[in-house]
Amino acid sequence: MRPLASDDARDQIRSRLNLVDVVQQHVRLRKQGRELWGICPFHSEKTPSFHVSEQKQSWYCFSCQKGGDLFTFVQEIEKTDFVGALRILAEMAGVELPERSGPAQERAALRRRLLELNRLAAQYYEYVLRSMPAGEPGRQLLARREVGEETAGRFGLGYAPAGANFAAFLRKRGHSIPDAVEAGLVRRGGEDYFQQRLVVPIRDERGQVLAFTGRTVLDGENRKYVNTPETVAYSKGKVLFALDLARSSIEERGHAVLMEGQFDVIVAHQFGVGNAIASSGTALTGDQLGLLRRFTDEVVLMFDNDRAGRGAADRAIELAQEHQVRTRVARIDGDAKDPDEFLRGGGSWDAVLRASRPGWEVRVSDVCEGLNPHEPRDRELWVGRVRQVLAAIKDQVEQRTYAEVAIGKFEVGAQFSITPEMLLSALPAPPRPGARAPVPPAPPPPDGLATPPLGNKLSHSVGFLLAVLAVRPEALERVLGILDPADLEDGDRAAYLRLVGALERGGLDALGQELDEFPAEEQILVRRAWAAPPPGVEEVGDRMVEEMVHTIRRESLARRRQALRKALAEAERRQDFEEAVVIGQQLNELRERT
Ligand SMILES: [Zn+2]
Repeated sequence: MRPLASDDARDQIRSRLNLVDVVQQHVRLRKQGRELWGICPFHSEKTPSFHVSEQKQSWYCFSCQKGGDLFTFVQEIEKTDFVGALRILAEMAGVELPERSGPAQERAALRRRLLELNRLAAQYYEYVLRSMPAGEPGRQLLARREVGEETAGRFGLGYAPAGANFAAFLRKRGHSIPDAVEAGLVRRGGEDYFQQRLVVPIRDERGQVLAFTGRTVLDGENRKYVNTPETVAYSKGKVLFALDLARSSIEERGHAVLMEGQFDVIVAHQFGVGNAIASSGTALTGDQLGLLRRFTDEVVLMFDNDRAGRGAADRAIELAQEHQVRTRVARIDGDAKDPDEFLRGGGSWDAVLRASRPGWEVRVSDVCEGLNPHEPRDRELWVGRVRQVLAAIKDQVEQRTYAEVAIGKFEVGAQFSITPEMLLSALPAPPRPGARAPVPPAPPPPDGLATPPLGNKLSHSVGFLLAVLAVRPEALERVLGILDPADLEDGDRAAYLRLVGALERGGLDALGQELDEFPAEEQILVRRAWAAPPPGVEEVGDRMVEEMVHTIRRESLARRRQALRKALAEAERRQDFEEAVVIGQQLNELRERT
């Protein structure tokens, strides 16, 4: 039995709401022909298999095979039962549920009243800032921060003077003061909650004012920022500041920029960074990432470049991973201490964005800081730190990718023979705080020139290079300029030449046609890269391709050198000096090429 499910209410909701609109609050849908497709919100995927039919008001996912109508969609997405879904949809559609009563109804009514008071308050503060003599301190603060009128208008900035002006305004209009106390606008003593503060409305993604931040205009005020306390209408961990203004730009650009402060965001919008948002008052939460994911699956983290900012970014990278949101980290160079200062100082945002790196790459790079790869003790420290970061990466392909990246950044691959396998063995087991990771055991020395490095035919680093080329054939030119096939091990060289040959003959088309004749291991490698490019591969910039190829080259030269040295020692032991001279010459040649 469904006590609240009056058929009337269901029909009314169906007639007033379009499934497509409701789905789009959670999933970005793209039109392909007459079809609507999106990334399924019910399982993790990278290519869209979630299908919505507007005509049939029906949805279906071809991967996880869930499907249903308007009501089941809301049930699934809000993790509620039918009655819960009905309530949510009734509120959206403005349909009154006949039997709805009791605390839930009261709460909903209170929420509506608080939102109305917030709307009034925002208008009031904005009016004071714009037009009243009392708004002067606010206008001066904005002038000092170089925030223009147009920007102030878009964000609905306002000014709250000292005293009980807003409370008096409410009384005069017959509004409830207890409600205003509940909304965090008036104090219990009857004074205004915000006084002598520039007021910034915090709005939800649809532009409803949920709360305010007040920034003091007084020097020497202890509490620089004051926020509305949590209310029925406001839960700070569930809101993203400026998302209402940024959402279309986020969809257009395909990513959001997450900043630390509201003022950073306001200034960013003024300078054309229209996809900037902030999680004000809290560290980034899972709810906020869930909200953001309706609009994009990539976020650029733009935090202060100090200890606290880096810590916040580290946590955000891990949390974002849990919500299938990719991260990049953007850092500003030079003297500016935050984005606000940087942009007002004429800094180029495009340059900052271009220089941004994937979150995990930044984390494995940061752990090299202050360490010298030539110091055994530093190497030991580094291994511990890198392993800690790698342990936090959930996706195994990404783990491998960033193990490679870490080795390349610290330049310990060739000289110190540290392999991804060593870094990844015995993961995941994040080291206990304070515990130090053991020094990895030395790899067994290769016993000849043709020995495959890792027991497989293809070494991991060359396998990764081939995957990159299969997805980004445009990187080929750069690779050819650096890598001499003669430097590769036999197995690697054969696979490399096969793939490069096909690409040179006719690009990806030729590769597709010839792939059937490739050895199974290479076929799988290429097909896997095509079906789901390892996340790292899509991110790999030209610079990283170069670094990767240099690393491969260094590694294989080091291996050959080691083998020659061994052969030399062997020849000397046999007193075969003719042979020793030949090998010595080869060693010299090799040294010149490094
Ligand atoms: Zn699905």
